Amino acid sequence: MTRRDEIAAGLASVEQRIVDACTEAGRDRSEITLIVVTKTYPASDVELVAELGVLDVGENRHPEAGDKAEQVAAPLRWHFLGGLQTNKAGAIARYADTVHSVDRVKLVNALSRGAEAAGRTLRCLVQIDFGEADGRSGVAPAGLAELAAAVADADHLELAGIMTVAPLGEDPVPHFQHLVRLSADLRKEHPEATIISAGMSDDFQHAIKAGATHLRLGRSVLGERASTR
Ligand SMILES: *Cc1c(COP(=O)(O)O)cnc(C)c1O
Repeated sequence: MTRRDEIAAGLASVEQRIVDACTEAGRDRSEITLIVVTKTYPASDVELVAELGVLDVGENRHPEAGDKAEQVAAPLRWHFLGGLQTNKAGAIARYADTVHSVDRVKLVNALSRGAEAAGRTLRCLVQIDFGEADGRSGVAPAGLAELAAAVADADHLELAGIMTVAPLGEDPVPHFQHLVRLSADLRKEHPEATIISAGMSDDFQHAIKAGATHLRLGRSVLGERASTR
């Protein structure tokens, strides 16, 4: 089996599981965008997923993400999913279509300046952290409104929605449902912020049921990765 066959099989199996979860949830498959998370996999895999019809890929580290975006010629949308340092925001603003991990106002300013320098508008999602004490990235739900307003007010950013990573070892369902309620509240103030980015390889069916619009799947498409991030 070639690597292309392997990835095609992974994609087909994930696609079937997405369709099944949509059917169960009474949702239309077209409401869901699949982002294939290619972090740690080689640029040649990114080329293959693009050839197989994928339009959206996700990465969580710079410069790995930027290097691949440069190496891969296919016209993909690059989603940046990882913890972000302000000094890398300018570089990321050049190649990312959407940044899912905006979690502080300082970053808003840095990303907006970066997008301005690149002569473009960058789509941003506010990352919500539902973990009480795990110190992961993301803003607590109480901080969403203020951070969202900062993104919406930034000249070169577009507030596109919200994102979460379910806290490790907890039932993801209540957190996904909470995220969907936060999104409904947010859209009263910012109707354009329609993206709900939730669901990874182990929990995406729950995310579909809760109302996610964007799934971020790595291992279930590309196979187990060598490192755990
Ligand atoms: C790695 C990663 C994913 C994909 O994880 P898988 O378990 O490989 O599906 C999704 N979202 C974020 C933020 C990630 O870092």
